[in-house]
Amino acid sequence: MGGFKNRNIERSEPRNPITLADLAAKNIGVFCWCNRCNHNAEVTASSLIDSLGPLFPVPELGSLMRCSACNARDVSTRPAWPSHGGGAIARHD
Ligand SMILES: [Zn+2]
Repeated sequence: MGGFKNRNIERSEPRNPITLADLAAKNIGVFCWCNRCNHNAEVTASSLIDSLGPLFPVPELGSLMRCSACNARDVSTRPAWPSHGGGAIARHD
Protein backbone atom coordinates (compact mmCIF):
# COMPACT_ATOMS: atom_id res chain seq x y z
CA MET A 1 0.00 0.00 0.00
CA GLY A 2 0.98 3.54 -0.18
CA GLY A 3 3.55 4.77 -2.52
CA PHE A 4 1.37 7.28 -4.21
CA LYS A 5 3.19 10.22 -5.52
CA ASN A 6 1.11 13.29 -5.70
CA ARG A 7 2.57 15.05 -8.60
CA ASN A 8 1.26 18.44 -9.35
CA ILE A 9 0.63 18.21 -13.04
CA GLU A 10 -1.34 21.38 -13.24
CA ARG A 11 1.47 23.70 -12.44
CA SER A 12 1.99 26.41 -14.93
CA GLU A 13 4.58 25.57 -17.50
CA PRO A 14 5.57 27.34 -20.65
CA ARG A 15 3.60 25.93 -23.50
CA ASN A 16 5.36 23.08 -25.12
CA PRO A 17 6.69 23.85 -28.53
CA ILE A 18 5.82 21.45 -31.27
CA THR A 19 8.49 18.83 -31.73
CA LEU A 20 9.76 16.87 -34.67
CA ALA A 21 7.93 13.83 -33.38
CA ASP A 22 4.67 15.75 -33.50
CA LEU A 23 5.25 16.58 -37.13
CA ALA A 24 6.37 13.10 -38.08
CA ALA A 25 3.24 11.65 -36.50
CA LYS A 26 1.12 13.87 -38.70
CA ASN A 27 3.30 13.43 -41.75
CA ILE A 28 4.07 17.11 -41.82
CA GLY A 29 7.39 18.49 -42.96
CA VAL A 30 9.32 21.53 -41.82
CA PHE A 31 9.20 24.58 -44.00
CA CYS A 32 12.39 26.61 -43.87
CA TRP A 33 13.13 29.94 -45.42
CA CYS A 34 16.00 32.34 -45.51
CA ASN A 35 15.27 35.83 -44.30
CA ARG A 36 18.07 37.23 -46.37
CA CYS A 37 17.52 35.85 -49.84
CA ASN A 38 14.09 34.24 -49.52
CA HIS A 39 15.38 30.84 -50.49
CA ASN A 40 13.06 28.22 -49.06
CA ALA A 41 12.78 24.50 -48.78
CA GLU A 42 10.73 21.87 -47.08
CA VAL A 43 12.46 19.18 -45.06
CA THR A 44 10.83 16.03 -43.86
CA ALA A 45 10.56 15.66 -40.11
CA SER A 46 11.91 12.13 -40.24
CA SER A 47 15.17 13.22 -41.81
CA LEU A 48 15.63 15.79 -39.05
CA ILE A 49 14.81 13.25 -36.38
CA ASP A 50 17.67 11.15 -37.67
CA SER A 51 20.14 13.84 -36.72
CA LEU A 52 18.41 15.80 -33.96
CA GLY A 53 16.13 13.35 -32.23
CA PRO A 54 12.33 13.28 -32.03
CA LEU A 55 11.94 15.76 -29.19
CA PHE A 56 13.73 18.62 -30.81
CA PRO A 57 11.49 21.70 -30.76
CA VAL A 58 10.62 22.89 -34.22
CA PRO A 59 10.95 26.62 -33.43
CA GLU A 60 14.61 26.10 -32.61
CA LEU A 61 15.46 24.46 -35.89
CA GLY A 62 16.15 27.75 -37.57
CA SER A 63 19.07 28.50 -35.29
CA LEU A 64 20.79 25.37 -36.53
CA MET A 65 20.19 25.90 -40.18
CA ARG A 66 22.15 27.71 -42.78
CA CYS A 67 20.79 28.84 -46.09
CA SER A 68 22.04 26.60 -48.85
CA ALA A 69 21.76 29.43 -51.33
CA CYS A 70 23.47 32.38 -49.64
CA ASN A 71 24.96 30.72 -46.57
CA ALA A 72 23.19 33.08 -44.18
CA ARG A 73 22.27 31.80 -40.76
CA ASP A 74 19.17 33.92 -40.72
CA VAL A 75 16.82 31.04 -41.34
CA SER A 76 13.30 30.66 -40.00
CA THR A 77 11.32 27.48 -39.74
CA ARG A 78 7.74 26.50 -39.22
CA PRO A 79 5.68 23.38 -39.56
CA ALA A 80 4.67 22.90 -43.17
CA TRP A 81 1.00 22.60 -42.41
CA PRO A 82 -1.10 21.53 -45.34
CA SER A 83 -2.12 24.65 -47.15
CA HIS A 84 -5.58 25.94 -46.50
CA GLY A 85 -7.11 24.96 -49.76
CA GLY A 86 -10.61 24.00 -48.82
CA GLY A 87 -10.17 20.39 -49.76
CA ALA A 88 -9.82 17.61 -47.31
CA ILE A 89 -6.30 16.35 -47.17
CA ALA A 90 -7.02 13.02 -45.59
CA ARG A 91 -4.79 10.59 -47.33
CA HIS A 92 -4.72 6.95 -46.47
CA ASP A 93 -1.74 4.89 -47.31
ZN1 LIG B 1 19.67 32.70 -48.27
